Amino acid sequence: MNVVHKYGGSSVATIEKIKAVAQRVAEVKRSGSNIAVVASAMGKTTNELIALASQLGEDLPPREMDSLLSTGEQKTVTLLAMALSALGVPAVSLTGFQGGFVTNQNFRHAKIKDIRIEAVQKYIDAGYVPVLAGFQGIDEEGNITTLGRGGSDTTAVALAAKLGWDCEIYTDVDGVYTVDPRRCPGAKKLATVTSDEMMEMASLGAGVLETRSVELAKKYGVRLYLGQSLEPDHTKGTYIMDQMNFEEMPVTGISIREDCCMVTARGLQAGGAPVNALFSVIAALDINVDMISQQMGADGSCILTFSCSEEAAKTLLEQAPQRGFASPLELQPGLCKLSLVGAGMVTHSGIAGKAFAVLQEANVPYYQITTSEISISLTIDAQNAERAIAALAAAFDLCEEEEA
Ligand code: ASP
Ligand code: MG
Repeated sequence: MNVVHKYGGSSVATIEKIKAVAQRVAEVKRSGSNIAVVASAMGKTTNELIALASQLGEDLPPREMDSLLSTGEQKTVTLLAMALSALGVPAVSLTGFQGGFVTNQNFRHAKIKDIRIEAVQKYIDAGYVPVLAGFQGIDEEGNITTLGRGGSDTTAVALAAKLGWDCEIYTDVDGVYTVDPRRCPGAKKLATVTSDEMMEMASLGAGVLETRSVELAKKYGVRLYLGQSLEPDHTKGTYIMDQMNFEEMPVTGISIREDCCMVTARGLQAGGAPVNALFSVIAALDINVDMISQQMGADGSCILTFSCSEEAAKTLLEQAPQRGFASPLELQPGLCKLSLVGAGMVTHSGIAGKAFAVLQEANVPYYQITTSEISISLTIDAQNAERAIAALAAAFDLCEEEEA
């Protein structure tokens, strides 16, 4: 079986860790598999580079920022290739440019357009382990680009798709859990999760895998696995795959997004200028809103609500009048958003009803509610989060039962 391994920043944070990763890669290579490696920058290097540059001011030229940020990954791959060579495994480091990762010119958030795989293929055919710098590429004009924070996952999946290989992402967490184990100590580890669930959970706040990489894996049918660095036993991590038995678990997990503020505007003329004015201000301030809903009154006016971060809500409240939206806005801060996610929801009914009953039983009031085909999200007071999570996790069989 041929495989792309991806190692995240925490897995290559020190020379000792890089040596240990090299040992693991050497084992795979010696077992007869072909292997290519994608690595992130060591530890918090990317953050440090950003902090360094920001001493020069704000609004730095994105082209230069991308050249700067790409150095983090370059450092890792050269060290890892040398560590492999020291173990007698022929290895070669490749930057995004050398690896043929062609992107568009959207600096800081570039998209991969093509992988000119010849160079990588040549080294694979010659028995080398190619060690590729994640998160970077080159545009058609020869500028270095980066793919956006967390983009090494995308590099790895794209490479696996191009080669037709499996992709294994190694990090400091040992798999995907039903609920963040820090928030719910009995949370169960999932042996499998569908890519749709993973995308919902990643964008809803589960944070283990970059959403784009999951999307790519789905699109190109890449077998994706998430596990803890240096743990070779695949029964210990999580496969992201699309064949599952939906009958068993209508809810696969709960994700939690902190820092939610509900914003309400009342008495607006529905579908008219005030609603447009409000959303133009929101767009101009680059505010990310969520859970938008509108309720019509009999007189043609409406109540509009949405959620956003508390800071964004305050900025909006401050700026709206001078930017052309004069009606009052009410803020309800101190909320968080819980999302129940499960591919099985497509075929199961009654999940929302059960969730509401569980919350009522646990004495947790809830406010906005939104749904997608495979998720139900609601906002609650942040101070009730622990209680709500525990009750929902127990009701939907997402945590180990407590010992009596
Ligand atoms: N080093 C980059 C970052 O910290 C890319 C990655 O780690 O995936 O965002
Ligand atoms: Mg990452």
